[in-house]
Amino acid sequence: DHILGESMHDFKPVAWEDIAGLESAKSTFLEAIIMPLRRPDLFTGVRCPPRGVLLFGPPGTGKTLIAKSIASQAKAKFFSINPSSLTSKWVGDAEKLVKTLFAVAAAHQPAIIFIDEVDSLLSKRSANENESTLRLKNEFLIHLDGAASNEEIRVLVIGATNRPQELDEAVRRRFVRRLYVPLPTREARQKIIEKLIHQVKHNLDVRQVIELAELTDGYSGADVDTLCRYASMAPLRSLTPDQMEVIETHQLPAVTMDDFKQALRVI
Ligand code: ATP
Repeated sequence: DHILGESMHDFKPVAWEDIAGLESAKSTFLEAIIMPLRRPDLFTGVRCPPRGVLLFGPPGTGKTLIAKSIASQAKAKFFSINPSSLTSKWVGDAEKLVKTLFAVAAAHQPAIIFIDEVDSLLSKRSANENESTLRLKNEFLIHLDGAASNEEIRVLVIGATNRPQELDEAVRRRFVRRLYVPLPTREARQKIIEKLIHQVKHNLDVRQVIELAELTDGYSGADVDTLCRYASMAPLRSLTPDQMEVIETHQLPAVTMDDFKQALRVI
């Protein structure tokens, strides 16, 4: 009960617009996943959607964000499991838990089961490691197949990984749709920066935002996010605790390009 409680999430809905870039992924998912979960009667037989989707690519590129957004738009319950806690806390019992998870998800359908770092749970190596991980993997395969073969069950499994090559071949095959989630483009980085600095007083103009987007080539979405958070703290960082205690919000200095340049040295 405890771990299932932990894994079932209510979160603030994530709209497509909250995800910068990744336009082709968005349209793929709308047709392949979201609409079928909302209108299962239209997507039967040869139109039956995949029940396993793999998102792969560098860390911090929005894979979790995409999974949550799919759940929001499909009006699906979202179960997210963390393999490291699954295997460490539930040695031996993990496969029972997997069985329960799929049963609870089916009872709450439409539902999405999100497995972050799916490679650590279902890797090539884990199959040889010991009896209990092998049982766990087999349990997963049974349920993935069950969901795939029964049109009535509207449970989608989304796996995310930075190391798709580590995945067990049998597992990879079950994730029929596989989508590469790349590092953000300059335009996407610009969008992330614009959205975040909009939340604070700043004096950056468009040209400077574009410059920042150029300077962050190679940053993931999560890195850009961290950069903006760090820079946005600058006006507060210059205050003593006593000053912070009394200052009015409108008296805070604006975040500047210099604050970002400083942040770029750290992040
Ligand atoms: P990991 O592989 O490390 O689990 P991930 O690919 O699942 O990472 P997320 O957890 O979705 O990445 O992203 C981390 C944070 O980075 C998000 O909460 C968001 O703030 C920001 N972010 C990443 N990519 C994007 C994006 N394309 N648009 C907007 N924000 C993004």
